[in-house]
Amino acid sequence: MPTTTKPTYCLLTDDSPTVRKVARRFLQGSDYELDDAGNGQIALEKCAIRMPDVVLLDWNMPVMNGIEFLRAAREQFGRDHPKIVVCTTESGVDYIREAMASGADDYIIKPFDAPTLHAKLSGVLAAPASV
Ligand SMILES: [Mg+2]
Repeated sequence: MPTTTKPTYCLLTDDSPTVRKVARRFLQGSDYELDDAGNGQIALEKCAIRMPDVVLLDWNMPVMNGIEFLRAAREQFGRDHPKIVVCTTESGVDYIREAMASGADDYIIKPFDAPTLHAKLSGVLAAPASV
């Protein structure tokens, strides 16, 4: 097997430095190239410069929140890129339907553990493009 697999570029988007740090720790050592953004606007700017394979997206953020990022990204970049996994708390589950309807690929409930995060990211990355 060739060993030249391109790492998966993952943009960790959350206004909490702690959550970003935890997610980073969960994914380090795997085949991910990691970057992070503290709000949706920064994430959108980073996507315009270089498209991530997948964005882990917090819901509640200042400046530009998760749903605003989701809508803007789908309008600017289309349905298939980047893959987006929305991240919210148990109390935010009502938002999931809205997120999925707005073009999220999957969601994860905080607090999440490393196996769940890996599974969610692998799942959306393996999914075929939408029609
Ligand atoms: Mg937040």
